[in-house]
Amino acid sequence: MATLEVKDLHVKAKEEEKEILTGVNLKMTTGEIHAIMGPNGTGKSTLSETIMGNPNYEVLKGDILINGQSIIGLPVDQRARAGLFLAMQYPAEIPGITNAEFIRAAINSRRAEDDQMPIPAFLKKLDHTLKTLDMTEEMSERYLNEGFSGGEKKRNEILQLMMIEPKFAILDEIDSGLDIDALKVVSRGVNAMRGPKFGSLIITHYQRLLNYIKPDVVHVMMGGKIVKSGDAELAVKLEDEGYAGLRDELGLDV
Ligand code: ADP
Ligand code: MG
Ligand code: MG
Repeated sequence: MATLEVKDLHVKAKEEEKEILTGVNLKMTTGEIHAIMGPNGTGKSTLSETIMGNPNYEVLKGDILINGQSIIGLPVDQRARAGLFLAMQYPAEIPGITNAEFIRAAINSRRAEDDQMPIPAFLKKLDHTLKTLDMTEEMSERYLNEGFSGGEKKRNEILQLMMIEPKFAILDEIDSGLDIDALKVVSRGVNAMRGPKFGSLIITHYQRLLNYIKPDVVHVMMGGKIVKSGDAELAVKLEDEGYAGLRDELGLDV
């Protein structure tokens, strides 16, 4: 079992003064799926980017730990080796590298030199995963993200996730811009990953996604921190009463 812990995290954007994250606390283990919900502009993406090591954000206070070890000083590639799935690590388009080549390189960069994944095993797993996601082999042979539609890019992100098998994946608004069929496919992929070796933090503005990926824990973020946590019912309640209702209930001024 692995843990991901965020402790009293205060963050601002590099060129700005104002704190965006004002003390986020969160702890999860593999085997769990946590959802973070919250109104627009409340810092959800900032949290995701900071965990992933986006250099545009500066940690003012607090810590991020995997298995009790701080990752705050680590560059992006070492965070990946520590077990994080970093969607932002994949540039929009890389000319000259096919999707499949990229995925194999990503898998092998996380393995020791004498433990590289053999090509037949890789192809077998790729084939199986493509089928799970209703993707064609042709998509894996395309140059990375070149000419992919928005929905295909999301599907491809889940393909990478399933192939790379990280300990923790932070998925920021994977539901945005997806039609219902694409949403179901993406959810099927995340649900296929569920198990004792995988944990995910799913960030979403809407409850809709959580009908397909049932979270163990739901956190609500407002004003740069988590103001309430609960089980899946909390998301349903939010959908009914809105963020304004919760703001009143908690007497918040954000
Ligand atoms: P959410 O994902 O919850 O919608 P964000 O994390 O994207 O929220 O943004 C939170 C706040 O921080 C917003 O007011 C946004 O304008 C500001 N912010 C985020 N990133 C930057 C940045 N790189 N530079 C300046 N301000 C930023
Ligand atoms: Mg936003
Ligand atoms: Mg966002």
